[in-house]
Amino acid sequence: AWSSVPQGPPDAILGITEAFKADSNPEKINLGVGAYRDDKGKPFVLPSVRTAEKKIVDSSLDKEYAGITGVPAFAKAAAILAYGPDSAAIKEDRVAITQSISGTGALRIGGAFLERFYPGSKTIYIPNPSWANHTAVFKDSGLKVEKYRYYNKDTIGLDYDGLLADIKAMPKGSIILLHACAHNPTGVDPTDEQWVAIAEAVKEGDHFPFFDMAYQGFASGDTNKDAFALRHFIKEGLRPILSQSFAKNMGLYGERVGAFSVVCESAEEKKRVDSQLKILVRPLYSNPPVHGARIASSILNDEALNKQWLGEVKDMADRIITMRALLKENLEKLGSKRDWSHITSQIGMFAFTGLTPEQMDVLAKEHSVYATRDGRISVAGITSGNVKRLAEAIYKVTG
Ligand code: PMP
Repeated sequence: AWSSVPQGPPDAILGITEAFKADSNPEKINLGVGAYRDDKGKPFVLPSVRTAEKKIVDSSLDKEYAGITGVPAFAKAAAILAYGPDSAAIKEDRVAITQSISGTGALRIGGAFLERFYPGSKTIYIPNPSWANHTAVFKDSGLKVEKYRYYNKDTIGLDYDGLLADIKAMPKGSIILLHACAHNPTGVDPTDEQWVAIAEAVKEGDHFPFFDMAYQGFASGDTNKDAFALRHFIKEGLRPILSQSFAKNMGLYGERVGAFSVVCESAEEKKRVDSQLKILVRPLYSNPPVHGARIASSILNDEALNKQWLGEVKDMADRIITMRALLKENLEKLGSKRDWSHITSQIGMFAFTGLTPEQMDVLAKEHSVYATRDGRISVAGITSGNVKRLAEAIYKVTG
């Protein structure tokens, strides 16, 4: 039956992992994966997660199904984390929220919700570049995908003018996807002042904002600071939809913990939206897994554990910020004539180095340093033990 199924291209990141595994150099460095590593280069389970997990196992909960929208205590706490403890929308009971299969699942529910109910054009505008999976997720949801300018190759920074011009040029009522913080893959975020102007342009165009928040806390180390854009848009009277992931900020990658929410106009509207979210989710996967959500819920709802977790998020963000500084410092010490200030001005897990695909190939072949060909490196893969060698490799490749 499948003789006409064509061979598909391999996933870009998986290809890097394969090449990395096959390399026998003991000093090889993998900067492809988007997962946090400790300073020994090892996967990291947050101590707050270990504690929460133990509490859950010790309480011998049953394995019954959650409701369609997941573990209620988790969803409620996730909304407060995103929108803030003082959020008027939450107090007025007008945020519809459902647990999701991490951030990807939240984006997929969002895509399906827009496809079914958005009253305007079913085109979603995503930044250029964006997380590689955005296009596929939204296309598979039945939306059309267009791009808006975001990154300026020459400055290795934000194309602020292009971004604003493109928002202003979009047809009235367009759907626009925004990375709430720690833009992937560039690590380039608008400043708070720029976000204010972006919100204004979105409002002026009567556009509809969809926030993807996969790194709350991971950018600055402060979950409130990282939620600035989302909360500012709401303060301005916009009513966005939101995808949240707990993969990075709780290190719950494989547990698939996330949430999708819709800020509504009233409690009555929220009830209707909520009913439709259930109708959307039911045939997709019926209901989400409970274990990871219980962990996140326990961390978010226990005051002491929550405080501990916030400290651990900050530690992860700080280690990344330190590695950025060390990489830049080492490149300068080697006498590199290039301006590497973007390494430290960028934020979050990834840095866009500005290296060309050809330079990235040489980095892999001659220096056993593996990352995507777009020049993106995962700063989480840099350690105090490999940063010097990494800087030397980058220095040699960039002359
Ligand atoms: N959005 C962005 C921008 C991301 O970088 C990621 C993770 N790489 C996700 C969403 C979704 O990740 P997950 O499904 O693991 O939560």
